[in-house]
Order: sequence, then structure tokens, then C-alpha cells
Amino acid sequence: MALPSLDAKIVIVGCGISGIGAALKLTKHGFRNVRIVEATGRSGGRIRTGKFGSSIVEMGAAWVHGPSQENAVFRLACQYNLLDPESMTEENQAIDVGGNLPLVPSFLRSSGGAVSAESLAPALELFYQVIEQTQGLTQAGEPAGSVGEYFKAEFTRLAEEEWRGEEEGTRKLRMALATSVMKAQCCLTGTHSMDTVWLGMFGVYRTLPGLDCTFPSVDYFKKHHDTFLRPPLPLHKLHTVQRMGFGTVNKIYLEFQEPFWDPETEAIYLLWEEEVQLADTVPNIHKDWVRKLFGFTVMEPTESA
Ligand SMILES: Cc1cc2nc3c(=O)[nH]c(=O)nc-3n(C[C@H](O)[C@H](O)[C@H](O)COP(=O)(O)OP(=O)(O)OC[C@H]3O[C@@H](n4cnc5c(N)ncnc54)[C@H](O)[C@@H]3O)c2cc1C
Repeated sequence: MALPSLDAKIVIVGCGISGIGAALKLTKHGFRNVRIVEATGRSGGRIRTGKFGSSIVEMGAAWVHGPSQENAVFRLACQYNLLDPESMTEENQAIDVGGNLPLVPSFLRSSGGAVSAESLAPALELFYQVIEQTQGLTQAGEPAGSVGEYFKAEFTRLAEEEWRGEEEGTRKLRMALATSVMKAQCCLTGTHSMDTVWLGMFGVYRTLPGLDCTFPSVDYFKKHHDTFLRPPLPLHKLHTVQRMGFGTVNKIYLEFQEPFWDPETEAIYLLWEEEVQLADTVPNIHKDWVRKLFGFTVMEPTESA
């Protein structure tokens, strides 16, 4: 295949990090006519720094996930000295958190008051054990069903077995915590419910060989799939794309004059006490959207805006 001329006219649609990254890469390789078009007049897309009260906050992306040398965002952040020295140590880069949030937790119940971390720790341990087991199924072939269905059945079975001797109140609180962490998992996975995530794809990420390309949008692809790719996608993948929708991942900032949590707390989990069925959706979301919140991360006061 002939290589494109360095004078080729290239238009990148969207000035989020993907568009900026693509433009950087192209110009670095000598392409001279690269243009980014952006609908909003602001670059950054879902990365946006804003003011909140007297602080500066990230309205969109804030975390560099998997901060190690293979991560281009991490390398950039290091290059511009944006991270604290601890995050850049080799030791930190070697820690494998397996996609979990290794933050010091506090647990607050919906009837008011905190619950001790010791009594709830087994719920978190079991949660991540079953998540790992669920991710492992991908390697075992092409399993049928959804992550949500498999996870709920397996977690409930093991919880009944392992927590048989516990008081009912403790068991319920552990199930409420698992339900909250399930909602957090939805947020990490970018889905409304884990019932919509296919078991065969859970935990899988691999880069494909070949020249990088940008994908216009799911909506564009839905309309033009027959002419967009040669060879076309296999039917089962096409059906998956056709069923894809758009949701919202959002953040809420709350500011307090004084912290009401323990000083070492890094994450506050919300326990909706009557939610003990691992249901990651909320029936009347427009009215009860607050119940879809799984918790908050604690932020230190930042420099003044
Ligand atoms: C609340 C929130 C928190 C997040 N937290 C994290 C986090 O902590 N860590 C993390 O790694 N990720 C996080 N993410 C995800 C991360 O922000 C996104 O994956 C990433 O920013 C996407 O970049 P992008 O360039 O692909 O798309 P976008 O940032 O969405 O950029 C697309 C751009 O294209 C423009 N555009 C769209 N259509 C057109 C058109 N037809 N013509 C012209 N312009 C167009 C849009 O206006 C936009 O500027 C978070 C996302 C949200 C919403």
C-alpha cells in the first residue's frame, strides 16, 4: 500500500484528547496539513478544569488510570511535571490495583451514621474476588450471558455460603455495600447496568495491529456500517454496535466548611440499606437518581481559583 503524502490534507473531527493526540502524532511524523475541527469552540472535550467555590476542580477526567510507562497520558504528565513525586516513583508504577480503587474507605448508611470498616471488609474482598473470577471467564472461550447476571448469581451464592454465621443486619449491610460497589463498577465500565456488558468482553483490552485510525462515532457507524468497513464486521459484532446507546457519566462536587469524616478517609461509600439485591439500576431514575450515587472521593482543598 502506498504511504500517504506528507502534504495530504487531514481533518480531525473533535478537539478532545483523542483528536489532540492524533494531531500531535501526525505532525510529529511530518504531516504538514493537519486541521482539527471542534463543534464547541473549546478544546479538551470531556477533560475540563473549572472553578467550584474558591477551588479549582476537574469537571471531567481527573485520574490517570494505570500510571506507568506504557500509559501515554502518564508519560505526558511526567514530562510536564504535573504529578507529585510519589506518583512518579517506580514503586508506585509497579503496583497492580486490577482496576479497583485502592482508597481508604468510610461507610455511611442511609439511616444515618457510619459502619465500621472491619465488619464490611469481607464484602469488598468478596466483590473483587468475584470480579476477578468474572474477568477470567473471557480467557475460557466465549461465555454466554452478561457480567451482571453472572456476577449477581455467583456473589449471592458465595455470600450465602461464607456469611452463614453472621447476623442478618451485618449480612444486609454487606449486600448493600456490594450493591454500591456494583454501581461504582458501572461507572468505571461506562455503562448504566452491568447486565448490558457481555461476559466475553469483560476485562479485555488489546490494541490491534495496523495503522491507527479514528472512529467517527457510534451513531455514524450505525448508519453507514455497510460502506464504512471492508471487510464488514461479523454479524454478531454489528448487532452489538446496533444496540449501543449513549449514557451519562457525571460528577457532583460538595463542599463542606469542615470535614465530618475521619481524617484518613479517601473514599466515602454510601450504603442504601434496603438495596440488598445487587441491583445496579434504580427503577425511577428521574425521581430517585440520587440512589445511583455510589459514593464520593475526598479531595484536599486545592489552590485558590
Ligand atoms: C465526569 C467524567 C469523569 C471522567 N473521569 C475520568 C478519569 O478520571 N480518568 C480517565 O482516564 N477518564 C475519565 N473520563 C473519561 C475521559 O474524560 C474520556 O474518555 C476522554 O476525555 C475522551 O476523550 P475523546 O477525545 O475521545 O472524546 P471527548 O473528550 O468527548 O472529545 C470529543 C470532542 O469532539 C467534539 N465533537 C463531537 N462531535 C463533533 C462534530 N461532529 N464536529 C466537531 N466536533 C465534534 C466534542 O465537542 C468534543 O470536544 C471521565 C469522563 C467523564 C464524563
